[in-house]
Amino acid sequence: MKQKLYTIPVNEAFEKDCECPVCEMYHALEDENIEFVMGSSYMVDDIRMQTNEVGFCTHHIKMMYQNQNRQGLALMLLTHMQHTNKKIRSLMDKKATITKGKGLLGKKTVEDPLTDYLKTVNSSCFVCNRMEPIFDRYLDTIVHSYQHEPGFKELFKKSKGFCTEHFMRLRETAFQKMKDEVQTEFLNDLNNLYIENMQRVTDDLEWFTDKFDYKNADKPWKNSKDALPRSITKTNHTKVV
Ligand SMILES: [Zn+2]
Ligand SMILES: [Zn+2]
Repeated sequence: MKQKLYTIPVNEAFEKDCECPVCEMYHALEDENIEFVMGSSYMVDDIRMQTNEVGFCTHHIKMMYQNQNRQGLALMLLTHMQHTNKKIRSLMDKKATITKGKGLLGKKTVEDPLTDYLKTVNSSCFVCNRMEPIFDRYLDTIVHSYQHEPGFKELFKKSKGFCTEHFMRLRETAFQKMKDEVQTEFLNDLNNLYIENMQRVTDDLEWFTDKFDYKNADKPWKNSKDALPRSITKTNHTKVV
């Protein structure tokens, strides 16, 4: 069973006290992949060919810059830039085909190899490409374990819900991978976990904002002291602390 490989990271994430266990597994996988790319992997020809071609997204280039291996990052960016400069120069010579739209306000159709190439480069990332298939397996493992591991199902139901992004990804996975009967039960649990916990964090955030009112200055914080970073995890699947 392919999922067996991933039950350990999935279980470990669900055992953590956090606002989204899927974010926890995503961040751990992301850290591993940043370590991989900033290790000596960039000296391997096959990997360097891929980083030259696709580059990195804004989020991951920031993580790589923070990793402190400035020489490694500089070498990777250098050959990526040499590669894209060459490609862009050659595509600059190709003429774009512009077809007029229908009527006065009709939208023009543009066929331009350089714009197409720029779109591809701007939306591709070696780290994202490397992570995404494994992250998909993690999501498959969650729905698989929910169906076949009673212990995991309990763990799932005890979680503090999910961020909005991973709520969506879990729904998509359930639609794709689950049989009708269990799918209904899973979606029901998932929906309740999401909305009840989202409401809990929303209420915490509301009290956090109310605390700025001088009338509430001496009242207890309740659970709202860290409500802002927890809200950001829920809405933007990211850690700010
Ligand atoms: Zn998440
Ligand atoms: Zn990326």
